[in-house]
Amino acid sequence: MSRFFSKKYSSLTPYTPGEQPRDQRYIKLNTNESPFPPSSIAQQRAKEELDRLQLYSDPCCTALTAKAAQVLGIEEDEILFSNGSDEVLNFAFMAFCDESHPAIFPDITYGFYKVFARLNGIPYEEIPLKDDFTIAVKDYVNQNKTIFIANPNAPTGICLSLEQIEAIVKSNPNNVVVIDEAYVDFGGESAIPLTKTYDNLLVIQTFSKSRSMAGARLGFAVGCKALIQDLNTIKYSVNPYNVNRMTMAAGLGALEDADYFRANCQKIINNRTWTTEALQELGFTVLPSTANFVFAKNNAIPGKELYLKLKARGILVRHFATPRLTDFVRVTIGSAEQMSAFISRTKEILEEIK
Ligand code: PMP
Repeated sequence: MSRFFSKKYSSLTPYTPGEQPRDQRYIKLNTNESPFPPSSIAQQRAKEELDRLQLYSDPCCTALTAKAAQVLGIEEDEILFSNGSDEVLNFAFMAFCDESHPAIFPDITYGFYKVFARLNGIPYEEIPLKDDFTIAVKDYVNQNKTIFIANPNAPTGICLSLEQIEAIVKSNPNNVVVIDEAYVDFGGESAIPLTKTYDNLLVIQTFSKSRSMAGARLGFAVGCKALIQDLNTIKYSVNPYNVNRMTMAAGLGALEDADYFRANCQKIINNRTWTTEALQELGFTVLPSTANFVFAKNNAIPGKELYLKLKARGILVRHFATPRLTDFVRVTIGSAEQMSAFISRTKEILEEIK
């Protein structure tokens, strides 16, 4: 730390991203990316922007916003695009939390929520998940705090029903409830339709997972016009050109290619089903996932050891070294070939340690 670093941030523990190896030696099942390339229409649209990069991008994301509004069945002033969904999550912490609106979120969830709360000096409380790793809905009802819930949750993959989400939103009319739907396209039900009824609901999604655009950085928030205006106030105070030209064009192309999007989601769901069964046959406990990853443990091998042995065999998964998670590994669902390799390497490891 330099002697110039602000005291405000000196005790900040930043988010730790999953390993991003520089070479292609690994089958990468550690950061919930898509195994499929972006839609060819998305790629084409991005290329067409190359010779216009001397010009700033459209701060209103006009064409992308119009298409997304049409696809999602909302108005154009009910959506805001961002540089990955991480950015708009941070905007939501900035816009809707303070001393009198502290943040609450589960103790086991996306690690960035805590970082954003600390970064912005926002008081926060972490609510323990139940023993079965589900969210206790009653803990979020009538809270009078700003609520952040990933649905499906990460790294568990477990989702709440729309009825449960609605119960939380309805009982906190004077606070914003943020539902982070990064993984919703793999079997969950989106809360976007509820934004028509509830002016305190903000739903956040990303193009990083189901639309294969993690490297392009594109996310968005959907909510009533007033909430979106508030987020725009933050955005125009931080970075009006937060979505670059190539990403904006690629996002539009991805939305135009609905068949490709749906087919890829279905492939991941199918691969998740048989991977889960194969893991269970090998003695694993697998939490019920509606995401593009599974969270699994096997009493025969600690999570860290399985992670290291898989890595030595060229397969990267994610291990979290915290007390309630340390027995588990989180495995991104990749292509059928990748998942076959993962299952056979895992089988070998279990044989070896017998
Ligand atoms: N929410 C959750 C629950 C996530 O796991 C992630 C990705 N790691 C994000 C949001 C952020 O994704 P991105 O910034 O790529 O949209």
